[in-house]
Amino acid sequence: MTRSVIKNIGKVVTGSIRNPIENWESLLITDGKIDGFNVDLKTTQDVQHVIDASGMTLIPGLYDSHTHPVFGGYSPRLKIMDWIESYLRGGITSMISTGELHLPGRPHDPQGVKALAILASKSYRNERPSGVKVQGGTLILETGLKEKDFEEVASAGVRAVKFIEAINDGEEAIRFSKWAKKNNLKVIIHCGGTSLPDVPTSTAQSIIEVEPDILAHLNGGPTPLSINDIDYLIHNTPWAIDLIRFGNFKLALHIIEAVIKIDALERVILGTDSPTASGMEPLGILHLMTSLASLSNLKPEQAICMATGNTSKVYTLPAGRVEIGAPADLVLLDTPLGGLANSALESMKAGDIPAIGMVMIDGDVRVLRNSLTPPTQRKITIS
Ligand SMILES: [Zn+2]
Repeated sequence: MTRSVIKNIGKVVTGSIRNPIENWESLLITDGKIDGFNVDLKTTQDVQHVIDASGMTLIPGLYDSHTHPVFGGYSPRLKIMDWIESYLRGGITSMISTGELHLPGRPHDPQGVKALAILASKSYRNERPSGVKVQGGTLILETGLKEKDFEEVASAGVRAVKFIEAINDGEEAIRFSKWAKKNNLKVIIHCGGTSLPDVPTSTAQSIIEVEPDILAHLNGGPTPLSINDIDYLIHNTPWAIDLIRFGNFKLALHIIEAVIKIDALERVILGTDSPTASGMEPLGILHLMTSLASLSNLKPEQAICMATGNTSKVYTLPAGRVEIGAPADLVLLDTPLGGLANSALESMKAGDIPAIGMVMIDGDVRVLRNSLTPPTQRKITIS
């Protein structure tokens, strides 16, 4: 049995957007899972490590809900190695692939897209880049796929499909969505203008017909739908709203205020769309959460829940909440040294991105002295 305790926690952001903050002072981790709160160290047996958080804010490890990995940490689009390791330093412990679109020579036939989805899904399950949990292998939908293809990819471990190509026949697109749902595959749809040369522009009308689960980059990737189409989808559908760092930020703020008004905060998930032509941004989710919390009526803890518990709920994944039995994927956040405020949450409201003191995956400390965020004001000690 491996056990550790994190003590002297300032605040806990739970990842649960309806109950985002708890004042647990300490947390017990047993064999990589969260096992208790407010631990009495004198009576708890077999504790190997005690991590003193010195008042920092504990949050679930962050999700990036919108990425385009290919294999491992290599990005052919920008010819960068180990990009996922840098994102880990930005607090990302899980990533959702919204399609391995950047593979050179990406196939466009049913056999090819199926093979790519299965291969990417299996390779990311076999090896986690720098420990980060990548849900890879999203099936990119192409004309000609049959119902048995959806059954085959689902049984091989694929968990999502994505509408990105022009499906010539609207009826076929509707069938794809039904077959995907029948096989417990989440249906993601590209929203808005053309991002890559082979991606068509979509409209609210074309999106509504296929009844997706997730409206990918509703604020544009990078070009959004019209504001009327966006408002229509917010007010007339229940689907998850994916907001991305590399989209239209003016519309991201518009969407957040609309969602606050109709009390639908659990629908929003946060991603970057990395790697993009705009670049790689390991701190992209920290910047997105901070910008939303500082420039809208969203509370910082709600922004954090959008990048943690909301995403895990939409994709039915175990990590993303600080609760008993959840994987101990955890991040300690602090106000940056010399920053405007005294805690991570106050810093975010003031517009300062928080500093990351520690990143843990399944109870293992993966990042302690972080070279990518500003230094923390408080210091972590491990005994
Ligand atoms: Zn994308």
